[in-house]
Amino acid sequence: MQGAFRVSIDGSRLRFAAAHMATFDGRCEPLHGHNYAVSIEAEGDLTADGWVWDFGDLRRIAAGILDELDHRFLLQERSSLLRATIVGGNYELHAGGQTYVLPCSDVVALPIDNTTAERLAEWIAGRLLAALRANGASNIRRLAVGVEEMPGQSGWYTLG
Ligand SMILES: [Zn+2]
Repeated sequence: MQGAFRVSIDGSRLRFAAAHMATFDGRCEPLHGHNYAVSIEAEGDLTADGWVWDFGDLRRIAAGILDELDHRFLLQERSSLLRATIVGGNYELHAGGQTYVLPCSDVVALPIDNTTAERLAEWIAGRLLAALRANGASNIRRLAVGVEEMPGQSGWYTLG
C-alpha cells in the first residue's frame, strides 16, 4: 500500500460574490447571485522541507484568482443559449427573449459553456495549477477544487 500527502485550504479569504445566469434544459435561469465558497486540495510529494506546499502561499495565489471573479457577472462565453456581444463598452446579453446590458468592467468572460459550480471549479483548478507550476510547484500531482454555491451544495473538479 502506498501513502499520499495532501494539503487543503478553505475559509474566509477563499470566497467571492458573483452574479450569473446558468442554463439548463435549453433555458436560462433568471439573473441572480451567490456568495461562493471555495475549497482546495493539493496532493503531491513532500518537498525537502517536509511539506506539499506552503499554506499561506497557496492561499495567496488562490485568493488572487478568486479576486478576478469577485463582484462580477460570470459570463459563459461558450454558451449556445446565452448570446453576448460587446457594444460600445457594454456587454449585451441575450437570453430567454430578454436583453441585459452590463458595463464590460462588471463582467468576467470565462471560456466555459455554462456557469455551473462544476465548470467554475474546473476553470479555477486550471488557473491555479498553472500559477502553482509558475511558482515552482512541480511536485503537485493532483489538484481538487470545490465550489460551493450555497451551504451543502458544491461542485468539484479534480485535475491529475
Ligand atoms: Zn446560481
